Amino acid sequence: MVAEIIAIGSELLSPYRIDTNSLELTEKLMEMGIRVGGKCVVGDNEEDISRAIRTAASRAQLIIITGGLGPTNDDKTREGISKALKLNLIFKKEIHNQIIEKYRQMKRNAEPPDNLARMAFVPEGAEIIENNVGAAPGLWIEMKEGELYILSLPGPPQEWRPMFEVVREKLSSFGNHFFSRRSLRIAGLREAEVEEKISPIYTGVKNPSVTILSSAEDIQIQIWGKAKEKQEAERLAEEMKESFLNVLEDNVYSLKDEPLEKVVGELLRKKEKTLAVAESCTGGLLSHRITNVPKSSDYFLFSGVVYSNEAKIKVLGVNEKDIKEHGAVSEEIATQMAEGVRKTAGADFGIGITGIAGPGGGTKEKPVGLVYISLSWEGGAETKRFRFPGTRLQVKTYATSHALNMLRKRLL
Ligand code: AMP
Ligand code: MG
Repeated sequence: MVAEIIAIGSELLSPYRIDTNSLELTEKLMEMGIRVGGKCVVGDNEEDISRAIRTAASRAQLIIITGGLGPTNDDKTREGISKALKLNLIFKKEIHNQIIEKYRQMKRNAEPPDNLARMAFVPEGAEIIENNVGAAPGLWIEMKEGELYILSLPGPPQEWRPMFEVVREKLSSFGNHFFSRRSLRIAGLREAEVEEKISPIYTGVKNPSVTILSSAEDIQIQIWGKAKEKQEAERLAEEMKESFLNVLEDNVYSLKDEPLEKVVGELLRKKEKTLAVAESCTGGLLSHRITNVPKSSDYFLFSGVVYSNEAKIKVLGVNEKDIKEHGAVSEEIATQMAEGVRKTAGADFGIGITGIAGPGGGTKEKPVGLVYISLSWEGGAETKRFRFPGTRLQVKTYATSHALNMLRKRLL
C-alpha cells in the first residue's frame, strides 16, 4: 500500500505557517508499514484541492488529507473531495444536530451560527469520524470496493491526533511491513567525524536504513528497520543502534529524542549540582535553552549577559589588565568569566562564553566563529577554543551546544 498526504490551507503556502501535519503523519504511517509515496500542499481552492486528490488517487491507494474542514467559506475540502471523486454532498440532519449541541456545550448556550451547517454536508458513502476537541468532524471514504481510501482530518494537530487513533486499526491492516525506529543524538563531534566512525557499519546496508541530520544544535542519526514481523524490524534497528553506540560511545547524549539541555538538566538534578552562566557572544541563548526545561529552577541559579568589557569587569570581577592584554575574546577571559559567575552565584558549576559571532568583527588572529568556552568548578576549570562555521545564529547555537556538552561530559 502506498499513501499520499495532502495538506490543505492557503496559510501553508505562505512563509508564515509550515505544514507539520504531513511530517507527523508520515512517521505514523511508516511505523505501521505504510509507505508514503509523496505529499503536497494546496491552498483553500476547490479546483486545486480536487486536482490534488485526483493526482494522488492515480498513484496511491490511501490519501490522507488535513485541513479545510471548518465551517467558514474558505474551508473547501468537502467540496474538493466531492468534485474529485464525483460524490454528492448530502446534508445529514443528525450530524448537524450533534454539531449544534456540541457548540452550545462549548460556548455556554450561545446561539449557534448558521455556517455550522456546512460541516454537516458529507460526501455520499463517507463515514464520520467524531471530533471531541473541535467542531469539524472528519471523514473516512472507501471507494471502488477497497481500491482507494480517503481519510480527511481537520488541520489543528490537537484535533486530528485523537481522530487518527480511531482509524489506526483499519490503517494498520493495510501495512504489509513493520518499521521500527531508533534515534541517536550526538554532541561534541562534527558530522565528518560521526560519518567516519559509523560508515564502516552501515555502508552498503539497505535495511535498516540510516539517515544523518546535522545542524548547529547537534547531529541526529535515524535508523529504520523494516520487516514482515514486528520483532524482526525491532531486532534490525536495535542491532544497528548498538553497533553505532559502540563507536560513538558517550558522544551520544540521548536515545530518546531529548534535547541536550534536558539531558544536562537531569544530570545536574541527579547529582544535586547547580549552575550559573556568563554569556557574551551567545547573548542569553544558553540561558534560554537551559530554562526551556521545566523545573530548571532546581539547578539553574543565575545568568548574566556580560556583553561589554565593563560588565565583565564589574559584574564578574574579570581582570581589566587581562582584557587589555589578551582581548575580551580569549582563553583567559572565558576562564575568568566562568569562575567569576560561579563564585558570584555560589554555584557548583560556572560556564563562560566569549567569541566572535560575525558576520563582521573578525581579524586574522581572531576570525569570525572563534569562540572560547570555559567550564569552572571548585578546584578546577576547562577552557576550550572553537572555530564554528555558519551564520551569526549558527555560531551562537554551536557555542551553546558545546557548552552544554562540556558540562555533560564533566557530570558523567
Ligand atoms: P483548518 O481550519 O482545519 O484548515 O486548520 C486550522 C489550523 O490548523 C491552522 O490555522 C493551523 O494552525 C493548523 N494547521 C492546518 N493545517 C496544518 C498543517 N498541515 N500543519 C500544521 N498545522 C496545520
Ligand atoms: Mg484552513
